[in-house]
Amino acid sequence: MGERKSLGKWVIARFQHETNTFSPIPTPLEAFNPYWGKDAFLDQEHARTAMGAFIQIAQQENVEMITPVCAFSNPSGTVDGKAYEQICNSIVEAVKQGCDAVLLDLHGAMVSEFSVDGEGDLLKRIRSIAPNTPIAVALDLHANVTTTMIENSDVMVSFKTYPHIDMYETGLHAGELLRDRLLGKIQPKLIYRQIPLLSHTLRSNTNEGAMQAAVQSAIQLEKTPGILGISILAGFSLADFQDAGMSIIVIADQDLHGAMDRGNEIANQLQEQILSQADGFIYESTPIAVDLRKASELTKLSTPGPVLLLDHSDNVMSGGPCDTTDVLESALDYGLQNIAAGPFADPETVQKLIQTGLNQTTEIELGNKSGWTYRGQIKNPLKLTGTVKAISDGKIKVTGPIFNGSILNMGPSVLFETDTAQIVISSERVEPYDIAVMTSLGIDLSSKTYVLLKSRMYCRPVFFPLSKGFVECDSDHGGPTSSNYDWFDIQHIRRPIYPLDKSAES
Ligand SMILES: [Zn+2]
Repeated sequence: MGERKSLGKWVIARFQHETNTFSPIPTPLEAFNPYWGKDAFLDQEHARTAMGAFIQIAQQENVEMITPVCAFSNPSGTVDGKAYEQICNSIVEAVKQGCDAVLLDLHGAMVSEFSVDGEGDLLKRIRSIAPNTPIAVALDLHANVTTTMIENSDVMVSFKTYPHIDMYETGLHAGELLRDRLLGKIQPKLIYRQIPLLSHTLRSNTNEGAMQAAVQSAIQLEKTPGILGISILAGFSLADFQDAGMSIIVIADQDLHGAMDRGNEIANQLQEQILSQADGFIYESTPIAVDLRKASELTKLSTPGPVLLLDHSDNVMSGGPCDTTDVLESALDYGLQNIAAGPFADPETVQKLIQTGLNQTTEIELGNKSGWTYRGQIKNPLKLTGTVKAISDGKIKVTGPIFNGSILNMGPSVLFETDTAQIVISSERVEPYDIAVMTSLGIDLSSKTYVLLKSRMYCRPVFFPLSKGFVECDSDHGGPTSSNYDWFDIQHIRRPIYPLDKSAES
């Protein structure tokens, strides 16, 4: 056997943020909890992320690795300009030292104070200092892909699942294509289609409907000779900038005769499929009273478990503050009983209740403190009387399947019990992707008639098997992550776009 060609030195980094430009939650550097240099490597070496996969491929190829940064923040408002610059600079400086490849684990829907196309501007900077160095990018399925991103990358692959359970596999896919490019086996070229369609997050579930059909078509078409990868990107519509919305990326091998033509045909075919099912990507919120009636009817089913109320007007994983109380208030007004609800992020109330003490009864003013306004109107906190039933430090070891093995930190947390509801109040904003957000405070889910979760998607893999059914609940008064676009003053997204404009034709 001949000597294996050395693949040189790779720069590997992770910089992830999904920006909800309507969110009142700021995104400073600390929100990213960044790890630099060697610490970034140690944090990601065994992680089930795209960066973890990049590291594994680099180790297999025995290449030298530079890991300038691993920075991840939950979704929130526009990224602080200085934080964006500092993280980008660390990657750019590493590339400046000289390297043979750049592998980036990005989200794709980042908006910063100084850069509306967060990922595009970063990739452009890298390309300008290393014009001949191949760049591979792994993206979230909710990336808002731009021409600048495409023009400054050689390989780009997104997740094929939502809820996202294939981060690592996506990294392997992108990383292996880059490796094969370095080995001279392939010559990848990106084919991009931007679709005039603003899909709803609730319609990007890859287990149902039009999104499932589109992703399944992509998986089939990926088997075409000379086609190296196909990504269907739902986009993220609450990032108010020019290029928000759906797109398709096909990677074709330019070295293979006819592959570019086939790639273009496939991109057109997928675009037509998506546009012909455009309504399948649109979500119509129903009045909350209709949702609650449906929920109370579901309780009559003989199957065990509670009925889930999924409050999608304010979710952490879409940039919500996790403290609006509309849906809870509506459920209480409607007369629902025996509810478990939360977690609501309200550190002020947690501290008050810790001081009140276990088994003591008091009145609280819950939530609505983060600054989200209802068309400019401030909403008052929800007044409730109840008893402190449990207090915890809020640290949970996640048992999966999403973020399995990681620590979910709710911060100091309290279980507050009223006549009709057991409410989890946390200090940190957390999405309920583990049942322990409730059970660790003593809630017995099987004994509940209703479980109200501030979650649209991440709760599903763990809470659905325990429930008899679910109802998606949007607030009648909007919310920072509402599925009703009427509540948002969208100014920058290109027009025409469906459903903001009647026709999806551009
Ligand atoms: Zn996503």
